Amino acid sequence: MFSELPRNVRLAAPVMLLLFIALMVATQTRAALEPEPPHVEYIVSDDAIPLADVMRSNDWKTISLYDLNFGFNPSHYWVRASISELGLSDAHGRWILEAGYPLVDHLNFYSVLNGDVTLEYHSGNNLPYAQRPLDVPTFAFPFDPQQADTLYLYLQTSSSAQLPLTLTAESSFWEGKVTTFAIEAAFYAVLASMLLYNLLISILTRDTLFLYYSCSIASVALMMASLHGWSYAFLWPDSPRFNDLMVLFTISLAEVFTALFGTHYLRLSKISPTFHRVFMLLVAAASAFGIASLFVPYATIIKLLTGLAIVMCISAFLLGIQLWRNTRSRDVMLFFSAISLLLIGLTIYALRNFGVLPDNLLTSRAAELGHIAQIILFALGLADRHNRERAARIAAQDVIISMQRETNAALDRKVKERTADLEMANRRLQEESTTDALTQVRNRRYFDQKFYTLYQEAFRQRTPLTLMLIDIDHFKNFNDQFGHQTGDIVLQRVAREIQSEIKRPLDSVYRYGGEEFAVLLPATAEEGAVTVAEQLRKRIENLQVDTHGELHSITISIGVHSHTPDQREDLDTFYQAADSALYRAKQQGRNCICLYEDPQNSPLASPEM
Ligand code: GH3
Ligand code: MG
Ligand code: MG
Repeated sequence: MFSELPRNVRLAAPVMLLLFIALMVATQTRAALEPEPPHVEYIVSDDAIPLADVMRSNDWKTISLYDLNFGFNPSHYWVRASISELGLSDAHGRWILEAGYPLVDHLNFYSVLNGDVTLEYHSGNNLPYAQRPLDVPTFAFPFDPQQADTLYLYLQTSSSAQLPLTLTAESSFWEGKVTTFAIEAAFYAVLASMLLYNLLISILTRDTLFLYYSCSIASVALMMASLHGWSYAFLWPDSPRFNDLMVLFTISLAEVFTALFGTHYLRLSKISPTFHRVFMLLVAAASAFGIASLFVPYATIIKLLTGLAIVMCISAFLLGIQLWRNTRSRDVMLFFSAISLLLIGLTIYALRNFGVLPDNLLTSRAAELGHIAQIILFALGLADRHNRERAARIAAQDVIISMQRETNAALDRKVKERTADLEMANRRLQEESTTDALTQVRNRRYFDQKFYTLYQEAFRQRTPLTLMLIDIDHFKNFNDQFGHQTGDIVLQRVAREIQSEIKRPLDSVYRYGGEEFAVLLPATAEEGAVTVAEQLRKRIENLQVDTHGELHSITISIGVHSHTPDQREDLDTFYQAADSALYRAKQQGRNCICLYEDPQNSPLASPEM
């Protein structure tokens, strides 16, 4: 589990826990080493008793100065201490008796000498702040020990009845306050900086989680300021009733926002709907108590809110254990550590308030320490989550990019395949459009192209080109006699025979039209052309065509023209020459070869004539 956490988080939790333990040990050791605290006396009653009556009373009970903590109890308390018991018999100058718990409703001080009141202060949260003899958020009463033999304190409050008393010479009182104020200022400075930082982040990222976190920090800061008495001192010193309200209200806000933040942080609605419902109920209760503080007595609401805080902490703790068992995620680990530390702090603070634990540096600051620890751990958690989400985003982007690449590659392959298919289809189409369907040799259209190209080439390279025009003799008769279908077969046979006779790769055969074929022989002069033509003629002559069981022979006439073109575009003349040679061959009795004859020249070859 721990190995999953980043180093800083892994270190933070145990370090804070150690810090707590160290403080606890230190304060306990201090308490053990300190001399026995002075004893005082007290009287509890359901009704207010006047000072004159309590002075005469015999109901005084002895109690240690450290144990003046009566918990939530609205009774009327009188506490008295003799100057000699306090060790002030020989003291000089003024001294200050301070009651350190700022949420007390009524707190009156009397110094009495020989049964006469020599000094009297009326103080407490139910009076305007300015009424206090000294400007501190606690209650501090300056007095002259030489003017008193006994000190009396009257206490009545609707919140926790605590009277953590300290006695300091006036000369050193403010020195001690500097330290206390510095500690508290540091606490608020930490909260304020965390608040500002997270508020900025929540504005910049528009992430509601940071907003809940900011609200949680703000409400905790306000709550602590109320509990410490600072908001009363600075914000509404003339409104005791409003101050009471704000104490309740800020506690309720702190509970609402901390719970909301926690549930959002854990994404509780998804991972544990049951616990989510429980927490939403608790949030609703906290809100209800906050609103109810307007009508319901302070004493009731403060108990409800304190109880609710305990229920929330315990629920969070149980939730932490359950989630830790189930998910073992880093978020849960952090949540659990943060909640545990807060819980430890609040428990210590609550036990002190209920009078179970003594009042000392640790117990009085335990809530603050718990809050700071919790806030720091959650800050780490948020930073860690931010990192993980960024890493996840980058990974997702990588996946998308690689998917895109794959898709592109597949598309590329498909396009290539399709292009190849198309090219092949195109070639086939072109071949079909340039091939004669009956004889499967090239057609007239292709002949025209090829003749043009070969002619140009021959012209450029000054090489001879041969064109043979071949015509089947008396084919009309053949058709008439044996039928058109047999005629087609003959055309196919003749084409095949010509194709077989043409051997050079560049030589080509064409069906020029009807029963006429053309043969182009590049780089072939007259002599070679005549040889090829003669072999061709013989081959056809020897061909036996089977028609309805009877064998027939056919003949062809060939007009040959071999010439090295001397004009670039004179294809017609070239063709006419071959055609006129064919015409002559027909005239000379067919089944023969005729070369084109210039009017000056005589016929070259005519084997059959
Ligand atoms: P010659 O060339 O020897 O002067 O006589 P010929 O009978 O061959 O004369 P001509 O060239 O005028 O006749 C061409 C004949 O070829 C006409 C037609 O019956 C035949 N012919 C043309 N094309 C086809 C074809 O595709 N199939 C068949 N079966 N016969 C065709
Ligand atoms: Mg013809
Ligand atoms: Mg013919």
